[in-house]
Amino acid sequence: MAEEIRILLAHADQIDPAQAEDYIKVGGFKGLEKARGMTSKDLIEEVKKSGLRGRGGAGFNAGMKWSFVPPAEVKYVVCNLDEGEPGTYKDRIICEKNAQALIEGMAICGVAINAKQGYIYCRGEYPFVVDLLRKAIQSAKDVGALGEFDIEVRMGAGAYVCGEETALIESIEGHRGEPRFKPPFPGVAGLWGVPTVVNNVETFACLPYILTNGADWFASIGAPKYPGTKVLTLTGDVNNPTYFEVPTNYILSDVIYKLGGGIKNGRKFKAVQVGGTSGAFIPEQNLNTSIDFDSMSAIGAALGSGAVLVMDETRDIVDIVTRISKFFEHESCGKCNPCREGTFRCREIMEKINSGRATEADIDNLLLLARVMKRAALCGLGQAAPVPITSTIEHFGHEYRRKLLQYA
Ligand code: NAD
Repeated sequence: MAEEIRILLAHADQIDPAQAEDYIKVGGFKGLEKARGMTSKDLIEEVKKSGLRGRGGAGFNAGMKWSFVPPAEVKYVVCNLDEGEPGTYKDRIICEKNAQALIEGMAICGVAINAKQGYIYCRGEYPFVVDLLRKAIQSAKDVGALGEFDIEVRMGAGAYVCGEETALIESIEGHRGEPRFKPPFPGVAGLWGVPTVVNNVETFACLPYILTNGADWFASIGAPKYPGTKVLTLTGDVNNPTYFEVPTNYILSDVIYKLGGGIKNGRKFKAVQVGGTSGAFIPEQNLNTSIDFDSMSAIGAALGSGAVLVMDETRDIVDIVTRISKFFEHESCGKCNPCREGTFRCREIMEKINSGRATEADIDNLLLLARVMKRAALCGLGQAAPVPITSTIEHFGHEYRRKLLQYA
């Protein structure tokens, strides 16, 4: 299989994403209309039946998440557009090509949980997307598509941790972006303490198509347990580094060799990191894996945000992982010890190895530290920070050992 399937990006560059009229001409807002004719219970059941799972990275069943929301007078719908994972820009692309689908998806969620207000939290590095979304929301309101539902766009200030949903909520509330303890999950106590659904841009953007074409149609596309399509961003040493929308049963090697046109400059493949800098490094023997959530987990990796970074045979794995460990040290918010001290120590030991000053005992210490961080860090940042380290020690251990002190 080497074909893209375009659902979210079907009309990319053919319509003006800021103009609701353009979107209506290609069938837009029909899903919302259908949702309004359903009971909240039936609407949530339909989304559950579609099998739609979170596209931010965690793969949580979207309908299930909505079903946890208790009855309350005020509730919120929050869209996570803080895609800070290096190599990830799929949410920007979805906004730039199909902003109205995101807006419609949020309004559908508003109908399902009976919320009147939505927020889009956009990363600070995307000011042009903030402008686009504000225009797009105004246009949707002008044509009367949103009814009583309103959406406000809030801009982050460049902190990676604010992509974590509770840190994002803190940031919208005007506080320093630090994660909260979970439970309670935002579905029960989120923004200003009230029930809040937080979903990723891509998750919301799937909803209009699910409602318009039916849950069974969506469930029949791609991998049965993680159905639909996935927007991927391909970067690194490939001939065609760009974005794609593929069914979720698409094979990783086809992403690199068919869509990506293979490795640049006639070189050989060394590794691919899927899901951004917090993802595992995948060696050649695992390339024949479907990109869906469960297949990636089965090889000890994660689909995550859908970033695919390819490295050729000339790349120095230890050097790359050392740079990644600096990134996590810099981005740790410092709230919990395992992450604050752990990312600092990881960077310290990685630099020691990379500069040829380490011994085998340092690798053992790194692995021990990684175990503690994965189990004890408060949020995904600290839990995922050691993944590039452990996966490269597992698959590229010889590159680490080559850099150890020879006389030790
Ligand atoms: P998580 O598994 O803790 O939660 C996933 C979602 O399900 C959350 O919305 C959470 O509130 C909800 N949830 C989970 N258990 C629940 C329960 N028992 N009751 C109610 N709701 C529940 O994962 P997470 O920390 O939100 O996200 C981690 C993922 O983020 C990673 O897989 C990583 O790939 C991804 N990530 C993405 C980016 C990006 O730029 N897109 C950046 C960093 C990390």
